Amino acid sequence: MNVLVLNAGSSTLKAKVLDPDSGRELLAVAVERIGEGGVTHAGAVAQVLDRAAAHAVSAVGHRVVHGGERFMGASVIDDATEAAIEACAPLAPLHNPPNLAGIRAARSALPSIPHVAVFDTAFHARLPRRAKTYAIDTAVAEKHGIRRYGFHGTSHAYVAELAAKHLGRPLAELRIVTLHLGNGASACAVELGHSTDTSMGMTPLDGLVMGTRGGDLDPGALIALLRAGMSVDELDTLLGKKSGLAGLSGVGNDLRDIERRAAEGDDRCRLAITVYSHRVRKYVGAYAAAMGGLDAVVLTAGIGENSASMRQRILQRFDFIGLVLDEDRNNDARVSHDEPVAEVSGETSRVRALVVKTNEELSIARQTAVVVAQTVAASSPAATASPPPTIPIAVSARHLHLDAATFATLFGEGATPTRHKDISQPGQYACEEKVNLIGPRGRIDGVRLLGPLRPKNQVEVSRTDEFKLGVDAPIRDSGVVGGSAPITIEGPKGTVTLTEGLICAKRHVHMAPEDAKRFKVKDGDEIEVAITGGPRDLVFGDVLVRVSEKYKLEMHIDTDEANAAELDAGTAGELVYTGVDMAKGELREKRVNHV
Ligand code: ADP
Repeated sequence: MNVLVLNAGSSTLKAKVLDPDSGRELLAVAVERIGEGGVTHAGAVAQVLDRAAAHAVSAVGHRVVHGGERFMGASVIDDATEAAIEACAPLAPLHNPPNLAGIRAARSALPSIPHVAVFDTAFHARLPRRAKTYAIDTAVAEKHGIRRYGFHGTSHAYVAELAAKHLGRPLAELRIVTLHLGNGASACAVELGHSTDTSMGMTPLDGLVMGTRGGDLDPGALIALLRAGMSVDELDTLLGKKSGLAGLSGVGNDLRDIERRAAEGDDRCRLAITVYSHRVRKYVGAYAAAMGGLDAVVLTAGIGENSASMRQRILQRFDFIGLVLDEDRNNDARVSHDEPVAEVSGETSRVRALVVKTNEELSIARQTAVVVAQTVAASSPAATASPPPTIPIAVSARHLHLDAATFATLFGEGATPTRHKDISQPGQYACEEKVNLIGPRGRIDGVRLLGPLRPKNQVEVSRTDEFKLGVDAPIRDSGVVGGSAPITIEGPKGTVTLTEGLICAKRHVHMAPEDAKRFKVKDGDEIEVAITGGPRDLVFGDVLVRVSEKYKLEMHIDTDEANAAELDAGTAGELVYTGVDMAKGELREKRVNHV
């Protein structure tokens, strides 16, 4: 299958034909000067299709900059999708209208093949509230859609995935800072496979220093400029076109020129370079802190892939977080589509530093192919003839798992867990034993132990519990406790303070392999589940799929989530995995994993 990838800007149309499986690029064309001399988007698309005719294109992937709140992943384009993209246009007035013009021209020229929209914002669509919220009057923010959206998502997701492959570890276990340093630039905290913070905000002006944009700026400076008589359009030009490397250096936005002049002694160019690297360093440190740890830093795009000296400035003196740059490797690093990853950290570096060649078009082609395959599968006679079963819902109250040593300290040497009653997942049981959790702010008594004992301690609480305890626990897949929050546990025979182990468990669905087959999902997928039949219908996003022979089909939510759906979870603290009979989940949408 060959995919035509279209990136329609206001004055250019960039197009590639790619084979998503092999990654082979079959055609690359760019039509420039759209809008001049009667060249329209439709005309540009016609030129591209002319060239692409020889390559048997079976789907078109469209890059769309802003998907607003609506699009969490790539989406097949129909009239409703087009209208929704149009509705996001006020958020990206320079980008979405030309993206849409490209879509309309291509759909009308190729009406019989599927078209898919791939959004720059989608990877960041589920930023946690704490990261996406600007601390201004909530009503004003809501009225004007002022929140962090983030951009470059396709690139951040793609390079993080390649980095995980290179490290030989699942992305879902890693904390990575990805740095997309091209003409536009942004940093992203990719925490266990998700974007949990990113430096571009409501618009692509925020964050890092870029070619012609300055990134972070005191909002008071904008007020001062407006008061001094600068017009809104002048301010727009200053922030979008006359700032960043270009504004600081005075010699344009190309880092190669700036580095050359800096070496010759040009002070403005030297300052431009140090302001740039200083800003990136701050974001690396900030995101490592926000994620509670760091496994890798990934640099990509024009500057990240090519400027050894900028990489050196960014990554030097990070020994204190366990990152040691190897200068030879850094100077020798070359990346290409054939060999897209080069390691630049030293042998002893705990945190790995990687240069990764980004390939947004290939990622768009792959996401397009996945969405098309899913659409075909969903409309197949087999899929429509036997709808998959509904999913029983279970509410999981706060509970904990202990290792043998901790159990012995809390309940005495020689003690063993006492079975209270079996719970729904085979082999697991609620124990008679209970402990008290003590946080810096408060305590929660009578938290039940689940058996059997495990190799690692893990305490699972809800957000409400976190506030009671006064801790900030990360949302984690069960079993992933590295870098989670500390907690003190009090038992009848002793007290243990864990440096990590407290998590807010990610909602998940357990299922056996044959259920996974019927739902057409696999272990590690994230899905949406609609809960109906209870007092309040609700769709839960970000539901992790866990597949194992030993699992029984069931979705687990915590007490906060049960409360939101008005499901009666009984007495909190006593209840462990009690099925909620009346409510059933129905798999709504299988989200495309970024590829
Ligand atoms: P875009 O965001 O437009 O896709 P790129 O990712 O191509 O941009 O990055 C372009 C920038 O990369 C150029 O402006 C230039 O500053 C920088 N760059 C490319 N090659 C080098 C190099 N060898 N040394 C330093 N900077 C480079």
